[in-house]
Amino acid sequence: MQLSLIIPFYNEETQIPQTLDVCIPILEGTGSSWEIIAIDDGSTDGSWQQLTTAAAADQRIRVFHFSRNFGKEAAICAGLDLAGGDAIILMDGDLQHPPSYIPEMLALWNQGYEVVEGKKAKRGKESLWSKLNAGIFYGSFRRLSGYDLTNASDFKLLDRRVVDAWRTLPEQNTFFRALSLWLGFKRTSFSFEVAERTSGKSKWRIRDLIRLSLDAMTGFSAKPLYLISFIGLILFIIFFILGIQTLVNYFLGRAASGFTTVILLQLLIGSSTLISLGLIGIYISKIFTEIKARPRYIISEAVNMIRPAEPQHCSGSIVVAD
Ligand code: UDP
Ligand code: MG
Repeated sequence: MQLSLIIPFYNEETQIPQTLDVCIPILEGTGSSWEIIAIDDGSTDGSWQQLTTAAAADQRIRVFHFSRNFGKEAAICAGLDLAGGDAIILMDGDLQHPPSYIPEMLALWNQGYEVVEGKKAKRGKESLWSKLNAGIFYGSFRRLSGYDLTNASDFKLLDRRVVDAWRTLPEQNTFFRALSLWLGFKRTSFSFEVAERTSGKSKWRIRDLIRLSLDAMTGFSAKPLYLISFIGLILFIIFFILGIQTLVNYFLGRAASGFTTVILLQLLIGSSTLISLGLIGIYISKIFTEIKARPRYIISEAVNMIRPAEPQHCSGSIVVAD
């Protein structure tokens, strides 16, 4: 059996040697044959240098460079396309997902589980602000999509069959954490303590978080669209009541007052119309990106590559010679 370890890196030049140094002895310790699939997500620092040096020293370290920064989701997609193992593990490159759990994950896989998910026991050291964000995001995501992602992470082991199923998914906008739930299969989880970053810093910005939240929710649920009709219904009921009141006033000859009501109504109608249009716009923009069907990533350089088996659906393009 072969084990693939997928690690995305974006501007992690100081972190890469440390991460590889920790992972390799653990992989050797499993006694199975292994490969590391390292994806350089268009880093602009010396990350690619570090990766090619490591790849030159060991053929089992396969490294791939994106033509630009495509984001962690795209890096995950590339890793899953390129991994050849029977068991495939995904892990962050900053050691926040402790590689020491790998033997435990493999043991669960050997028991017949096809998806082994890491759940965050504690959300590491995080500001109150990001805890609050996560709380709001997971709460609304659960209500909209029906999937509970609280404490979920991208630290997962997937069986070959799950990865093959994943590779048939045609969408451009993926949200790995939720899609891997959607896939189903025999699943189990283990909990891990999120380690602290030893070097570099988190690449997440508020903007990315907002985009990911909107993407995730609109990608997994059409409920917001139904919400628009619901708001319309509520407004209609308000109109109905106010309409009767207005008519009564008119016939009683008291029609001149009520200016405040008019302004309030204008504001309410104006804002709810714009919000609704915006929401519809988000869905249309999703259709727009999906229909263009662009590759999820472009790999411009690679060392120790093994070309992936042509999938039922190829999600990216590889523009390097063998
Ligand atoms: N990462 C990536 N592309 C990006 C941003 C991040 O491949 O555009 C990688 C990053 O190098 C790291 C992992 O994804 O290995 C997790 O990123 P980070 O630590 O910044 O996220 P956090 O742990 O704060 O959620
Ligand atoms: Mg991190």
